[in-house]
Amino acid sequence: MGINFISEPIPLARDAGGTPEGASDASWYFATQNHGIERQALECDIECDVCIVGGGYTGLSAALTLSEAGLSVVLLEKYRIGSGASGRNGGVLGMGQRKDQDDLEKLLGDEWAHKLWKMSEDANALVRQRIKDYDIDCDLANGELTVAHRARYERELWDYAAHLETRYRYEDCHSLSRAEVSDRIGSDAYFGGYLDLRAGHLHPLNLAQGLAQAAESKGAQLFETTEVLGIDAEGPGRAQVRTAGCRVRSDKVVLACNGYLNGLIREPDDFQMPINNFMVATEPLPQPLAETIIRDNQAVVDTRFVVNYFHLSRDHRLIFGGGENYTRFFPKDIRAVVRRRLLEIYPQLENVEIPYAWGGTLSVTMNRMPKFGRLGEHLYYGQGYSGHGVAMANMGGHLIAEAIKGEAAGFDLLADIKHRRFPGGRWLRWPGLVAGMLFYAMLDRV
Ligand SMILES: Cc1cc2nc3c(=O)[nH]c(=O)nc-3n(C[C@H](O)[C@H](O)[C@H](O)COP(=O)(O)OP(=O)(O)OC[C@H]3O[C@@H](n4cnc5c(N)ncnc54)[C@H](O)[C@@H]3O)c2cc1C
Repeated sequence: MGINFISEPIPLARDAGGTPEGASDASWYFATQNHGIERQALECDIECDVCIVGGGYTGLSAALTLSEAGLSVVLLEKYRIGSGASGRNGGVLGMGQRKDQDDLEKLLGDEWAHKLWKMSEDANALVRQRIKDYDIDCDLANGELTVAHRARYERELWDYAAHLETRYRYEDCHSLSRAEVSDRIGSDAYFGGYLDLRAGHLHPLNLAQGLAQAAESKGAQLFETTEVLGIDAEGPGRAQVRTAGCRVRSDKVVLACNGYLNGLIREPDDFQMPINNFMVATEPLPQPLAETIIRDNQAVVDTRFVVNYFHLSRDHRLIFGGGENYTRFFPKDIRAVVRRRLLEIYPQLENVEIPYAWGGTLSVTMNRMPKFGRLGEHLYYGQGYSGHGVAMANMGGHLIAEAIKGEAAGFDLLADIKHRRFPGGRWLRWPGLVAGMLFYAMLDRV
């Protein structure tokens, strides 16, 4: 990919995330957050029903569902709420799972695939309902265009839209010709595609912060700059979660660290690979130009293996994501990496300034489906949304909370999916995997 690495290494993907605040405060989302509330660190031992580790959507959504049900909840976040993937992602509120339904039908059978589709519909509804119930100001807009970057994918996208309609009675997906795509997004770079009206886009950090405030309004206690160093959840008694100076004793623990898990607990880590993904935000575009770029304020996602995804912000910036790497380091010049991809789609933006560039770390699994599980009596974990977590991590945290409350059907639908560990253990798996990812990334150019 021709990426230069910074000489002062930020420990990243292999250390699973390293310093999220370093890149999250470079983002346009950070610059436009609704509030900059800073919560205190945990400074004494404390007891609760459920201790949650990680303040992204998975952890926050679990905290909200549990505290709505009257359980006492303590959430510990190493940096700030939303400073992981949840506060810096592309904001695309996608439908379905990361894996297409026809693949899920082959992998898991018809019934299971149908339940997972229904879960994604519920995930979309859950996010929308919470935005409404808790009055979360996060620029929610409707519509996502999926567009073919090669002619050979155009028919596949149309067939998939038809498949959703006939097999899943999903009527919100509409096939588009190449001319219709071009008219909607002001670029000839793509072939046909489809428009999904139930999907959409939003301001991810403001969603995370809104969920945090919602959980607090129901009694959850959230602590920031509090790194969990160890968890003892295997014995018969209460679990203990350790930070540098304190302990949290709880009946249950939720591990919600996703791509930033960094070996805290071995088993979930073996099933995921952290990947860094990069984004930019342009200066505000003049409104007439913005409207030719994306006519109806919808999100756009393409069919590349290393996907491009973009939408307009409320002040008419182009928020564009594209490019990834699989190392411990972010590229030295994220702006240049992403700009190159942006100009392939929109050469007319050659002279537009790009004041914001940032990166984030997400977690992928071998089969690109989320990895959920229990460890012993007390610990639940959920991770590995494979770049499709805005809706699904919100649902994932909710399902963990439901399981803790005694209703595990939804949780088990995910936990029962068979996953393969990444081969080669924690260190040796990287060379082969990276070679594989780079191979597929290269196919994007063929
Ligand atoms: C650049 C980028 C673009 C993306 N775009 C999209 C998109 O458009 N649509 C989509 O659906 N998905 C997208 N994703 C994926 C989506 O953002 C994630 O799937 C989702 O946010 C995962 O949420 P999470 O809560 O599980 O993890 P995270 O949000 O990563 O949260 C994990 C948290 O755990 C904390 N943590 C880690 N270790 C500890 C510890 N020891 N103690 C305490 N806290 C700890 C971290 O600091 C972090 O805040 C994107 C991801 C990235 C990085």
